[in-house]
Amino acid sequence: MAEKQKFDVVVIGSGPGGYVAAIKAAQEKKTVCLIEKGSLGGTCLNVGCIPTKTLLANAEVMHKIKTAADFGITVGPISFDFEKNERTQGHCSRKNSQKLRRAFTF
Ligand SMILES: Cc1cc2nc3c(=O)[nH]c(=O)nc-3n(C[C@H](O)[C@H](O)[C@H](O)COP(=O)(O)OP(=O)(O)OC[C@H]3O[C@@H](n4cnc5c(N)ncnc54)[C@H](O)[C@@H]3O)c2cc1C
Repeated sequence: MAEKQKFDVVVIGSGPGGYVAAIKAAQEKKTVCLIEKGSLGGTCLNVGCIPTKTLLANAEVMHKIKTAADFGITVGPISFDFEKNERTQGHCSRKNSQKLRRAFTF
């Protein structure tokens, strides 16, 4: 049978709402259990704020390169490798998720 543990606070969901609540409770010297059914960090870290801002930043770079000629800067043809972008972005999200995991594992 699984070992039973007792906590002062149980937080369901590890998005910005959940992990901030869990950190605050831990700072108040409470024992905390953070439950997550998906990826640690929730929507913001894994699919929302950070991945979408990465895409926006990439679009800005593309735009600057495309309009560089207006300022006398000549560059070669450019392309966007969506899969590579996804891999890099996924890697960053996983790294941040792992950092969060380390912060919560004692
Ligand atoms: C495309 C997109 C872009 C965004 N960009 C921004 C931005 O630039 N700036 C900004 O401030 N906000 C942005 N947001 C909003 C931001 O992501 C949310 O406000 C934030 O994630 C909400 O945090 P949360 O903790 O309430 O919920 P979530 O981040 O959704 O976390 C909830 C977590 O609870 C888990 N969960 C749910 N039910 C259970 C269960 N029964 N058991 C265990 N776990 C469970 C889920 O798996 C999830 O991980 C964006 C959202 C989207 C979709």
